[in-house]
Order: sequence, then structure tokens, then C-alpha cells
Amino acid sequence: TGVQNALEVVNLTKRYGAMAAVKDLTFHVEPNEILGISGPNGAGKTTLFDVISGLSAASAGRVTLFGQDITGARAEQVCHLGLARTFQLNAVFDSMTVEENLLTAAYFGRHGRSFPGLRFDRQSHADCDAALEITGLAPHRHRPAAQLTVLERKLLMLASAVATGPRLLMLDEPVGGLTREEIDHCAGVIRRIRAERAMTIVLIEHVMSFVTALADRVMVLHHGAKLYEGSVAGMAESAEVVSAYLGTS
Ligand code: ATP
Repeated sequence: TGVQNALEVVNLTKRYGAMAAVKDLTFHVEPNEILGISGPNGAGKTTLFDVISGLSAASAGRVTLFGQDITGARAEQVCHLGLARTFQLNAVFDSMTVEENLLTAAYFGRHGRSFPGLRFDRQSHADCDAALEITGLAPHRHRPAAQLTVLERKLLMLASAVATGPRLLMLDEPVGGLTREEIDHCAGVIRRIRAERAMTIVLIEHVMSFVTALADRVMVLHHGAKLYEGSVAGMAESAEVVSAYLGTS
């Protein structure tokens, strides 16, 4: 009935000992939508990404990706099924060039560990080239990643995720630490990825101007639970959201 959701998260809980980092959380993302996730430090945003992407196991609940149950699937399988995520911290291979980073992402994103030898096939090269083109990194193809600027590294992390050929992209603070102009540039790149690749995107970000410029809808987490879900405009008017950020709830 109706359009199949890109992502469905139902009653998801993740406990670390007695503490629930994610608490009975239910939400969905529609195809081609950009959902922004915000919330104070420790709200459970990264933990939520970890569980959805298969890096850590859910304590309870269910995750569905384009109609397929991925609860309990390993990160490698989840990637293979079309979900790519980026990390808050710098996650590029410094000793490789930009192109080698992207070939590696494209190759392992598609084949996982199922291929015994490392030989970049034609498809990996095509995925690498497409990721270089869409992120504007093509002129930097042969540069060692270690020499990239902060912005170029952020774009390389984004490009690596795109190179795996996902249908759903989950970005963890994609513009943290960037200047105003750099943030605007990244917003343009992400908009282009959504438009040209028919991508669904979930992004965690504290930079509100970025979320406002990109997100169709926002979800705010606090103590692992949903504090707000709705329009970006409505978020600023929510008394619960304001007090959570001021630390009074
Ligand atoms: P930030 O904005 O600072 O990245 P966040 O919203 O992403 O915060 P998480 O990193 O998901 O929050 O952390 C949520 C809670 O879970 C925090 O209290 C954190 O200390 C706890 N936590 C996260 N990972 C672990 C772990 N591996 N073991 C124990 N506790 C953890």
C-alpha cells in the first residue's frame, strides 16, 4: 500500500549496560527525501547510525531498507544492500591517492570480501569516475589523500560513500569544522547527488543553516528518544527542543 519507504526504523533500542543510548525509536524516511537528525551531544545520533548500518547490534526493534529487513545484518551486507554511511571523524586512507580511495570503496562496496584477489574491475572504475565527477574531485584524482584540505577530505568521504553505489546515504556531520562558504559548497554537492542519483539521504548535523538549506524534514533526538519530528521551521518554535539545547530538560 502506497510507496515503499527507503528506511523504516521500528521500536529500535540500543542498550550499553543499563543505559539506553537509543530508546524505542520509530521513524521512516521516504525515497529521495533528505531527513536531518539533530540533538544535543550524547543524544544517540551516532549510535543510531551504528545500529542501522550494522556496525553494532540492536538490543530490540527492527530496521528495514527499501522493504528488506536488515536487522542484525553485518555492515558489509548492509552496504551491499545499498546503504552507505560516513563517519564524523576523518576516515580516508592517507597513504592512497583520491582515486585509489574511491576505487577501494567502489570495489569493496560492491563485492565485499567475496572476491579473493584485489583487481579493480570496470564497474569499480566507472563508480569511481562518477563519484569524482559528482563531488568535483576529478581534478584531484591523483593527489595523495594526505595532501588534501579539510574541505577536500570531507568531499572524499562523501565520494567514497557514493562510490559504493548506495540508494540510501547516511552522513554523520558532513560539514563539521568547515567555513560558511565551504558549507554552502557541500550543500550544493549533496543537492546534486540527490537529484542526479535519485538518492535518499539521512544526515546528522549541528550546523542549523546547513540543515535548513537541505532537509525536507528534521528529527531531534534527546536522551535516545524522539523529541521532535517535522518541518525545519517548526523545530525552532518547539519549546521542548529549545529547552533540550539549553540543558533545562
Ligand atoms: P555527539 O553529538 O556528541 O556525537 P551523539 O548524539 O552522536 O553525540 P552517541 O555518540 O550516539 O551520541 O552517544 C549516545 C550515548 O551512548 C552517550 O551517552 C554515549 O556515552 C553512549 N555510548 C556511545 N557508544 C558507547 C559504547 N560503545 N559504550 C558505552 N556507551 C556508549
